[in-house]
Amino acid sequence: MQNSLRPLCLSLETLHRVKSRMLEAMERGLSRRTHSQATVRMLPAFIRSTPDGTERGEFLVLELGDTHLRVLLMELSGDTDQRVTMKERCFPVPDAIAQGPGEKLFAFLATCLWEFLDGLHMPQTDFELGFSFPFTCRQTRLDQSYLISWSKRFQCAGVEGRDVVVLLQDAINKQDRYHIKVIAVVNDTTGTMMSCDASAGPCEVGLVVDAGTNSCFMAEARHVEVVEESEGRMGVVTEWGSFGDDGALNDMLSPYDLQLDQASLNPGRQRFEKMISGLYLGEIVWHILTELFSGRMTPVLLTKGSVQTQDILEITDEQVGLATARRVLRALGLEASDQDCFNMQQVCKAVCIRAAGLCAAGLAAIVSHMCRNRELSRLKTSVAVDGAVFRAHAKFSQTLQQLVKQLAPECDVTLVQAEGSSKGIGMVTAVASRLAAQRLQVNQTLALLQLSPAALGTVQALLRREMELGLKKETNAMSSVRMLPTYICATPDGSERGDFLALDLGGTNFRVLLVKVGSREQGGVQIISEVYSIPPHVAQGPGSQLFDHIVECIADFQTKQGMMGQTLPLGFTFSFPCQQTSLDQGILLSWTKGFNASGCVGQDVVKLLREAVKRKNHFALDVVAIVNDTVGTMMSCGYHDPNCEVGLIVGTGTNACYMEQLRNVGTLAGEEGRMCINMEWGAFGDNGCLDAFFTPFDRQVDEASLNPGRQRFEKLISGMYLGEIVRRILLELTDKGCLFRGRLSPKLQTPDIFQTKFLSSIESDGLALRQVCAILEELGLHVSCEDSVLVREVCQVVARRAAQLCGAAVAAVVEKIRENRSLEQLAVTVGVDGTLYKLHPHFAQQVQETVRQLAPRCSVTFLQSEDGSGKGAALIAAVACRVARHQRA
Ligand code: ADP
Ligand code: MG
Repeated sequence: MQNSLRPLCLSLETLHRVKSRMLEAMERGLSRRTHSQATVRMLPAFIRSTPDGTERGEFLVLELGDTHLRVLLMELSGDTDQRVTMKERCFPVPDAIAQGPGEKLFAFLATCLWEFLDGLHMPQTDFELGFSFPFTCRQTRLDQSYLISWSKRFQCAGVEGRDVVVLLQDAINKQDRYHIKVIAVVNDTTGTMMSCDASAGPCEVGLVVDAGTNSCFMAEARHVEVVEESEGRMGVVTEWGSFGDDGALNDMLSPYDLQLDQASLNPGRQRFEKMISGLYLGEIVWHILTELFSGRMTPVLLTKGSVQTQDILEITDEQVGLATARRVLRALGLEASDQDCFNMQQVCKAVCIRAAGLCAAGLAAIVSHMCRNRELSRLKTSVAVDGAVFRAHAKFSQTLQQLVKQLAPECDVTLVQAEGSSKGIGMVTAVASRLAAQRLQVNQTLALLQLSPAALGTVQALLRREMELGLKKETNAMSSVRMLPTYICATPDGSERGDFLALDLGGTNFRVLLVKVGSREQGGVQIISEVYSIPPHVAQGPGSQLFDHIVECIADFQTKQGMMGQTLPLGFTFSFPCQQTSLDQGILLSWTKGFNASGCVGQDVVKLLREAVKRKNHFALDVVAIVNDTVGTMMSCGYHDPNCEVGLIVGTGTNACYMEQLRNVGTLAGEEGRMCINMEWGAFGDNGCLDAFFTPFDRQVDEASLNPGRQRFEKLISGMYLGEIVRRILLELTDKGCLFRGRLSPKLQTPDIFQTKFLSSIESDGLALRQVCAILEELGLHVSCEDSVLVREVCQVVARRAAQLCGAAVAAVVEKIRENRSLEQLAVTVGVDGTLYKLHPHFAQQVQETVRQLAPRCSVTFLQSEDGSGKGAALIAAVACRVARHQRA
C-alpha cells in the first residue's frame, strides 16, 4: 500500500519546483521570441478590464456548448449595488447542424436569437452580444477570432480559417428587426474570471478544473509581448493543461501517469491536465486499484472508466468517505473489508491531494507572477473557480487554498465559486461595451488638445506675424508680443572678468548670488547663492513691502558672505515684461505668473529697488543692469557657444529672446548692428489671435488665474498651468464617467492640487503602473489600474501639446533669424532654462522634434544653461562695466 502511493506524494519542495517551472513556462509563452513553441501558450484574450460595478445596460450572450446552445439576456443596473438579472433559453443543436455546412450553423445561431428575443417581447431592438465559441481559435482582437480546428462533435464545412465573428455577424444581419453587434468572443475560462462580483474586490484570476483544466489572469499588457499594447492590463489564458509536454514534469510522473498517458488518445500531450482534471482522476485511481487488487481481479475492475471522478472526490470526505468507498468497491465487484475501504480512501486522498497540490503550484505561479510584475510587495486577489472538481466536493478547494498560501506567501488569495460562465461572458461583453463608450468619450475630450502639423504651422505663422507687428513702431500696440528692446547688443566674448552680485526674481524663488567671473585657469564662473522664498502675500501685497523684503534678503546674503560694506556691480534678473530705455532702467509693464504687487506697474523697477535700499539705509547697491531671464540664459550659454542667439525659458512661465537686426527694430533709432529683443511671448494670443486653439479647459484655467485674459500662450505651456489643465480634464472625464468610476473626490476639486512635477513623474519611462498609482494615491486619489493609465494619457497629451506649441514658437524665431540674414541654411543655438524643460522626461525632445519639422532649413542646437539667470546677469553687468570703463577712458 505504502509503496503504491509513494510515487504520488509530492513534497512541498517538489511543489515549489513545479511552481518555478510553471513560471518559466509562462515566461516563454509571454515572450514574443518563444511564444510559438511554448508549451504553456499564454494566449491574449483581449480583455482589458475586470468589471468595476458601473457596467449597465442589456447584453446578449450566445454560448455554444457541445449539445446545446444557450441564449441569454443579461441586464445590469450599474448602480451602487450592481443588480444582475438574466433570462435564458436553451436550444438543442441537432447533428445536422453540428456537422453540416458552416452557413447553416450560423443561420441556426441567428434564428435561435430571434426566437429568444421575440419571446421576451421587449421594446428594445439594439443589443451588443458576446459569443462563447469553445473551439481552438486564433484570437487577434476581442471581436476577431479565427477558427483553427473543430473538435468534440462539431465539424462544419467552410469555417476553419475564418473569423467566426464575421460569420455570426453576417448571419445576424440577414434580418433587420434587431440590430445586434457582436463585440466579444469569449473563452470559458475568462468567462469564469469575469463572472465574479466586483464588490468583494478585484477578481483577476480564473481557474477551471472540469473535464479539462485551464486558467487565466490579468497580466500587465507590456509583459504580453505578442500584443502591441503596452498600457494597462490584458487577460491571458494560460492553456496550462499542456504544461509538462516538454518534459518539465517527467521527474514527478508516477507509473500510473505513464500507463494512463500511453492508453490515452493523445499520448505525450496535456501532461499537467492528465494529473489534475476530472477526466483523469478516476482513471488514475483505477490504475492504482488494478495494482492493489491484482490478486482479486473482477470483470468490472478490468474495464477502463469504471471509476468515476465524482466518487473519488466524495471518498476523500471524512464523514461519508468510507461508506462511499464501500459502495464503489462493491460496484466494482469486490467484497470490501474495512481495511479495503480504508485503503481505497487513502488512494483517493493521495490522488486528490496531488491534483490539488499541482493545481496550487500552478496558481501560485500565476499570483507570484502578477505580484512581481506589478511590483507589489503583496498581491490581494480573488480567484474565481469553476468546474466539476470544485463543485463535487469542498475538500479540493480547501487543500488548494492551504497550499497556495504556502507556495505563494506574498499573495492573499481568496477562492470564490464562479457564478456560471454565461454570466461571465455577459460581463466580458458589458465591460467591453463600457470601455468602448469610455474610449469614445476620452477621444472626443482629448481631440481638442491634439494639434495637427498644419495647426502647428498656423501657430508658427501667427507668431511670425505678431513678431513683425511688434517690431514696427506703428503696429506695436496691435501685437500681443511686445518685442521689447533690452539694450544688449552683443553676446559675451569670454574676456569678461570680476566679482558681481546678481538677483533673480521672477518665479518660484528669489535668489541672491555672488558670481565670480574668472579666466578658465581661474576656474571660469563660480557662483555662491542663497534661495529666499517670497510668500504669496508679499508677491501680491504692496510693492514697497516686496522691495523691502528683497533688500532684507540681500542684506542677509551679504552678512552671511562677510561682504557687508562692499559694493559690487549688480545685475538684476527681473523676469517680467519691462519697457527699457537703457540697460539699467526698466518700466514694469505688467506682472505675470504668481505676482501682483501693487504700485509697481508703470514704475522703474531699478528705482523701486534703490528706494528700498535708501529706506533701509544701511548699505549701497550699484545696479548696473536690469536683465530679463531669457536674456540672462542666452548670455550664459553664449559665454560657451558663440552661436547662441536665442534664449528660451520654460519654467513657471515661458518666454524667449533673440538677437534681431537693429534695422528691423522700428521702435528704436539706429540701423547698424543687432540688439537682443525680449519677445514676451507668454502674452502671444492675448489679442485673440489664438482663440481657435483654446479648449474649455484652457478657458477655465485662464478665468481662475490672477491675470485672466492675459499670458494666454504661457497658460498653454508653462509649469504654473500644465498640472491645473490636467486636473480640469480629469474632472471632466470623471464627470463623464470615464475615471474614478464617475465619482468626484473633494481632493480632485481642489485647485492646484495636481502639480506640474507630477506630470514628469507620471510620464517617466518604464514607470510601472503601480508607481503611477502610488503618485496618485499620494494626492489622495484612489485609483484603479485603468484610472492610472488614463491619467497618464491625459498628462502625455497636455505635455505634448505644450512642447509642440513651444517648438512652433521657436521655429518662428529661428526662421526669422535665418531670413534676416538671407541664409539658405542657418546654424543657431538656443540657450534654455526652466525646470519644466529640464526635468520633464519628454518635453525637450518634443520641442526639438517640432522645430525640426517646422524649420527644416535651420539646424538648431539646444543648450541647457546652468544657472542662466544668475550667471547671465553677472555677465551682462561685466559687459556694462567694461563699456563704462571704455567710455570714461
Ligand atoms: P522659475 O521659472 O520660477 O524661475 P523654474 O525654472 O524652476 O523656476 O520652474 C519652476 C516650475 O517648474 C514650477 O512652476 C513647477 O511647476 C515646474 N516644475 C517643478 N518641478 C518639475 C518637474 N519635475 N517637472 C516639470 N516641471 C516641474
Ligand atoms: Mg527661472
